[in-house]
Amino acid sequence: MINLILFGPPGSGKGTQAHKLADRYNFLHISTGDLFRHEIGHNTELGLEAMSYISKGLLVPDEITIGMLRKKMEEDHDVAGVIFDGFPRNVLQSEALDELLAERDQRISALIALDVDDEEIVNRIMERAKTSGRPDDADEAIIRNRIEIYKAETTPVFDYYAQDNRSHKINGVGDIEEIFSRLSELIDSLPA
Ligand code: ADP
Repeated sequence: MINLILFGPPGSGKGTQAHKLADRYNFLHISTGDLFRHEIGHNTELGLEAMSYISKGLLVPDEITIGMLRKKMEEDHDVAGVIFDGFPRNVLQSEALDELLAERDQRISALIALDVDDEEIVNRIMERAKTSGRPDDADEAIIRNRIEIYKAETTPVFDYYAQDNRSHKINGVGDIEEIFSRLSELIDSLPA
């Protein structure tokens, strides 16, 4: 099993690329953002609680997020690997993920970060807001808040997996196919 973390700031294209990678490599794509939006769409208790954080551009508390991820990983999937998108978002979540995988005699194979600068991200998200219907995309102050939280809490996750050389960075600016090729090349070069 290959376990990848697709990493990068909000709006860096993780969702788009994870979807394409899942198709090409028969990976299960787990997006915590999508899981939350599913819960929100079904008006569940978890969804309502998550919404109170997401709409402000805050992270949903770890307990809730990790519980939801655990549940997802307990489902049976016939796949060659898993691609984590939007998780882990802080070091505590990284440690929890490592434990969840260790319980299954697995580990993270690699973290791949999409490198995109702040102004490009704000532009992309404002553009996405026109069609996404996401309240956290519509307001520039909330977007900037998400970027700040990313820098403060999420970038240490890159360093966490860099300690034993599992973190990689690729240029996340360019057209979708170009970035997909960069990602595929890197994945193909990973030790089996
Ligand atoms: P983006 O990458 O554009 O920020 P996501 O769909 O990944 O979008 O996440 C949307 C929101 O869901 C986040 O801003 C955050 O509030 C919440 N969220 C997603 N994943 C996590 C996580 N691992 N921990 C805490 N909150 C999360």
